[in-house]
Amino acid sequence: MSEKHVFHRAQKRDWPQISHGEGVHLVATDGRRYLDACAGVHVVSVGHGVEEIADAMSAQARKVTFTYARFLTQPQLDLAERIAAMTPAGLDRVFFVSGGSEATESALKMARKYHLATGNPQKYKIISRWQGWHGNTIAAMSMSGRTSWRREYAPYLLDFPHLSAPIPYHCRLCDGSRCHLHQVEELERVIKQEGAENISAFIVEPILGTSACGVAPHPDFFPMVREVCDRNQILLIIDEVVTGFGRTGTSFGIDQWEVVPDIMATGKGLSSGYTPIAATVAHERVFEPIAAAGAFTHGHTYGGNALSCATALAVQDYIEKHDLISCCRDMGDLMLEKLKPLEDHPLVAEVRGRGLLTGVEFIADKQSRTPFDPALGVTSRMVDALFDREVLVMPGAPGLIDGERGDHIAISPPFTITAAQVQEVVDAVFASVDELAAFVAGVDVAAAGV
Ligand code: PLP
Repeated sequence: MSEKHVFHRAQKRDWPQISHGEGVHLVATDGRRYLDACAGVHVVSVGHGVEEIADAMSAQARKVTFTYARFLTQPQLDLAERIAAMTPAGLDRVFFVSGGSEATESALKMARKYHLATGNPQKYKIISRWQGWHGNTIAAMSMSGRTSWRREYAPYLLDFPHLSAPIPYHCRLCDGSRCHLHQVEELERVIKQEGAENISAFIVEPILGTSACGVAPHPDFFPMVREVCDRNQILLIIDEVVTGFGRTGTSFGIDQWEVVPDIMATGKGLSSGYTPIAATVAHERVFEPIAAAGAFTHGHTYGGNALSCATALAVQDYIEKHDLISCCRDMGDLMLEKLKPLEDHPLVAEVRGRGLLTGVEFIADKQSRTPFDPALGVTSRMVDALFDREVLVMPGAPGLIDGERGDHIAISPPFTITAAQVQEVVDAVFASVDELAAFVAGVDVAAAGV
């Protein structure tokens, strides 16, 4: 068995091979059992190897798996109806794609089509945030932050304006309680500078996922954003690729602000990773002009295939049948409660989160809120220390403060995690922080350039 023919994204280490999954565990061929405390990458909400879902997949595969855009299938109709029933009122038109980047890119094109259809052909720019992430395709990356991932592809990226997304802990303008006001002010200023007549949409994650896991804005933030968007004929796109389908303890993250967006991008938890599927959901007020003007000239081969739709439907049925969104809320509260005492540790800046989307940030000097020198690789050290304890967490994207500095990890297990398993994760995190402290004690942090 050789890795020779796999073009892996990182070529540096021998990757363990997984033979199968069981609930919250991934089992490797060498017998190690990893507690998947990040659900892959915030994906596997119902756990691994659920038989009811495998049965639904097998039944659909025996009927029909693929038809192209000129046909509808029952699973597609049923899933669209199910999603429309879950999303905020009016978000009733579901466009199926195969992944989160396709979903955000489709949202960009939908917004463009809407403005063309409503007599505003000059509107095309999308405003986004430096601490946001919307995917890897060129337009999705153009709307994203994460400096380290953008840098090499910068010549291809579209010239879209970005706002700074305040991380209250690091805010230099206030004590963290008025960050939402600074950001709305910046949004208004950027709209003026770029010209409202050129702006198509503002895209934003309701609660940050990969770039600063668990950071949630002030209760007034989204109502204020909604008002600014309406006043300037700018569509509000909410990226629920991570936060959708229960991950933050409500059906969608934006439900916690009771604001209705114009377009919503979803993915990950829709199928819990049993098959690639995602969806862009449009409000009727966006859909109607596009439909009246003719076709939405956009689509991907696998979007809405019957097998993926049947699989996602089985996942959503499973979540409902086992009341897993409530479980996610309860286990998320427990995880946060048990990790919060880490904030007393000199190397832990903050523990934050909603539902089972929890972030832990590390800091070199608490007094001055100075982050570690990126060269120390603190995030990777934490992820590796947990990996050695057979607990999987996500490395937070580098540079949550300024594109370069800021270390953090994300914890987002399946909603089926038990209280005892939450405790296992918490114990492993505490032990790994102690290991980090021992490493830091042996390093001349000042000499390392902090
Ligand atoms: N949007 C958000 C908020 C994400 O976190 C991601 C990926 O992590 C994407 C979009 C892109 O999704 P995908 O990797 O499925 O293309």
